[in-house]
This record gives sequence, structure tokens and C-alpha cells, in this order.
Amino acid sequence: MIKKGFVLFGSIALALMVAGCNDDKTADKVGANQGAVVKVVNKPAAGKKIRSLGGTETISLAKETSVTWIQDNVEEKMMPRKLFSDASDSLYESLNMPAGIPASVSAFLVKDDGEFILFDAGFGSFGGQLLNRLIALGVSPDDIGFVYLTHLHMDHIAGLIKKDAPGSVTKTFKNAALYVNKVEYDAWMNSIPQNELQKKIMSIYKDSLHLFEFNDELPHGVLAMDAVGHTPGHTAFQFRNLLVIGDLMHGYALQKDHPEISSNYDMDKPKAAESRKRIMQYARDNKLLMAGMHLPPPGFVK
Ligand SMILES: [Zn+2]
Repeated sequence: MIKKGFVLFGSIALALMVAGCNDDKTADKVGANQGAVVKVVNKPAAGKKIRSLGGTETISLAKETSVTWIQDNVEEKMMPRKLFSDASDSLYESLNMPAGIPASVSAFLVKDDGEFILFDAGFGSFGGQLLNRLIALGVSPDDIGFVYLTHLHMDHIAGLIKKDAPGSVTKTFKNAALYVNKVEYDAWMNSIPQNELQKKIMSIYKDSLHLFEFNDELPHGVLAMDAVGHTPGHTAFQFRNLLVIGDLMHGYALQKDHPEISSNYDMDKPKAAESRKRIMQYARDNKLLMAGMHLPPPGFVK
């Protein structure tokens, strides 16, 4: 009974919590056998769903610390079978998902000590809902103090800018320090083709841009982890018991049991597979809650 409110993640656990099985304010429980009074004081709320609100879901990580999944896409997002050309027909058919693998385009917002950290920024003016949903949550874009990017693909960065006057764009998050892995930055600035958007956004943020290396500790104790393969500097971030995994998985239903299968979006498939296996194992070993930008709603898996 005492353990039931502890770290329980994943959709099943969340469903149980929503159903009212979790009560972290419980005090003075009487032990069934011994008749002893078990005092439960300040039982951690970690893992408790705080609220759901139109395409968002907030989970407590600790006292005064939470993470919110924010769905950026409008329509249902399915990753097509053709994206996983390394999967055999028989394997794919065993999923029984002929219409594609459920996914999302997501960003995550951490609130820690009254400050906000945003992980990735979605599609922006290409149909992204991040900004609307931040505002619906009562968070102004000016409140965002830090933006940590997993990589520089368009669906993760376009939301960093917004149209200002006709023909001109400006920062969406004018008070945010922007963090990008140095290898990722250099690759997009120098060698990856079709990089106009990346160059434009990085130049708009140049006065608040911070380049980091793997294993650096970023503000609020966030650890930047090597998750390369999808892109040259693809980064996972650990914050407490949360692991933001970016684009480590595009087809969760397939890749959770077959991490060796990379999607065709992965620029270096062998490296992506190695990172996927290593990071999923790390999450399991450390009982971390994974938050992924293309995981199916609500964007979290245990
Ligand atoms: Zn992506």
C-alpha cells in the first residue's frame, strides 16, 4: 500500500492514477497485520499525473518540479510502414498496424524552481500548436528561460521563430538561452544540405546561443548525452528521473522490441541503432521516464 504512489510510469500506470488509485497525501495508515501506525510523511509525488489539458499532460517529477508533454501536431500522426524499410514484411505485419505506427510531434516543458526549460520547439508557423498550448497552460513564451535542442531538424526548431512584420521573423522565446550540441551545429552550418532554416534560426539566436558537448552539465543539472545517429550530434537529456530522447524512436510500437531497426529518417542507421539500444538500456537500468518527440500521445514511456 505504501509503495503504490511511488514512481510508476507508462500509460498503464498513468491510467491507474487517473482512475484514482494514487493518493500521495495519505498519512497515518494502519498496518493490516500488526496494527502498527505507519506514518507517511511528504510521500514523493514523483510520477503522479497533475493534469491533462488539450494536447498536453503534466507529470510531477519532484516537489515543485514537473514535466509537461505538449503535442505540436494537429492531426493524428502515423509513421508509415515505408519509413521502416529495414523491417521485414512479416515483422511489420505482426504489429497489426496497417495504417502506420502511432506517433506525434512533441515538445516538453520542464518547470523547475519556478523556471521553465523547453525541450525542442516544434513546427512553429508550419502548423505547430506549441505556442497556443503554452499560452493555454498559462506560460508566456517570454517565461521560457532555456531551450535545449535535441537536434536541428525542422520539426524541432521551426517554432523558435515567428513572423514579425511581413517578410521578417523574430525570436519566439526572446528571453531564452538556446543550447545546441557543437557537432550538430557545425554539421548543419557546414556540411548538411538544405540548411537555410537552420542557418537563419541560429543567426537570429546568435546572441543567446550556447554550444555544448556530450556529458556537459547544463543549467538546472541537465546532463547532455550522446544519442548520435539520427543526426550527427543528436542529443538526449537527463533531468532527474526524466530522459528526453528526441528522435531516438519514430515507431515506438516497432522499435521498443526491435531497437536494431532504424527509421529511414536516421542519417546513420548503425549509429542510431547503437544509441537506441544503449539509451533504452540506460533508461531501464535507472528507471527513467522517457519523453520522446515522436512517441505516441502522451509522449512518455517507461
Ligand atoms: Zn523529428
